[in-house]
Amino acid sequence: MKTIAILGSTGSIGTQTLEVVRSNPDLKVAALAAGSSVEKLEAQVREFRPGVVGMWSPEAARDLKARISDLDVKVVSGMEGLLEIAVLPEISVLVTAIVGMIGIRPTVAAIEAGKDIALANKETLVTAGHIIMPLARKRGVSILPVDSEHSAIFQSLNGEPSGRIEKILLTASGGPFRGMKREQLARMQVEDALKHPNWSMGRKITVDSSTLVNKGLEVMEAGWLFDVEPDRIQVVVHPQSILHSAVQFVDGAVIGQMGVPDMKLPIQYALFYPDRRPMGGRRVDLFELGRLTFEKPDTETFPGLELAYRAARLGGSMPTVFNAANEKAVALFLEKRISYLQIPELIESAMEEHAVIEDPTVEQILETERLTYEWIAGRIS
Ligand code: NAD
Ligand code: MG
Repeated sequence: MKTIAILGSTGSIGTQTLEVVRSNPDLKVAALAAGSSVEKLEAQVREFRPGVVGMWSPEAARDLKARISDLDVKVVSGMEGLLEIAVLPEISVLVTAIVGMIGIRPTVAAIEAGKDIALANKETLVTAGHIIMPLARKRGVSILPVDSEHSAIFQSLNGEPSGRIEKILLTASGGPFRGMKREQLARMQVEDALKHPNWSMGRKITVDSSTLVNKGLEVMEAGWLFDVEPDRIQVVVHPQSILHSAVQFVDGAVIGQMGVPDMKLPIQYALFYPDRRPMGGRRVDLFELGRLTFEKPDTETFPGLELAYRAARLGGSMPTVFNAANEKAVALFLEKRISYLQIPELIESAMEEHAVIEDPTVEQILETERLTYEWIAGRIS
């Protein structure tokens, strides 16, 4: 029996993690947490019977508590609630399926308490990788990637040391706007950006996929997970999303992982690593596919990727500015308050404004996030 907790259980990764739990009776869920979707969380509590549940907002927590008063479940809220769940004695793995930098503190707390992390919440590694990775090594815990590309790299490495990596080939679908030019992008609306060709995901990451900012975040995520500098991580656009990424080793061998696009595979792999469990579902049919194609990313039209490389090379607090500016800009775009092309423009100008702090603490990261949000809000109003 393996006991887990899920932060962000009502989202895209959270609900797919619960699907994996449904088909593996030896997984037990001790705690669930979500932002504000009371009804969804209530249904999950009734089905999976965790001992503790968290809602970010105190009002939602009160509402949930009233709805499940017939059950013996502890309801917690806010950051305190997330931190309590992260260190529950009965869990061995924390699934971080929350979105944004809000995940940093619970992730750090869980590592300090010796929990393995099944990490979907890439924003935490992008901004606090320099804190999380050394801490994980010190505590002897594993950071198991859930992001499909990083799981593919992890599966391809299969225990080989990072010294044997020549480069990482990080694949990208190219998103819904692949092949478009700036003039066309200027007209794109929220509805257009939310139509991903191959994956069904949360709103923020779907917009990030269309701008290539998601791939930029993934370059930084891969850098931390596999100890490889940004310039040895090559982004390869592969519209079919069948090759989920590959490793080129020092002898020239390229080993990659293929599969139909389905997040349940990387989730299950992370939860049972080093075991590989059977899983149903569709299979890759190479004859039906006929061919797989690869192309260079168009970084002129999609500057988000180059900005990410720039942030990664500068390091320190710059990835936080890149990420926070993007989070804020995407939220404004989803509220229809800025245009599509303003997303990379705002990221670039926020980065230009910022004086890098080397080796920032968690407090400095969160303060940088706050200042970046404020700066962007000031530019927009
Ligand atoms: P989502 O928007 O679908 O879900 C986010 C979840 O977090 C929800 O359950 C929401 O209630 C919860 N949440 C948000 N704010 C919270 C708060 N303050 N406190 C507690 N819970 C809160 O997002 P998603 O697409 O599932 O993505 C989650 C993370 O996984 C992101 O970091 C994303 O980049 C990463 N990721 C997602 C996918 C995917 O296929 N969806 C793939 C790779 C990586
Ligand atoms: Mg990914």
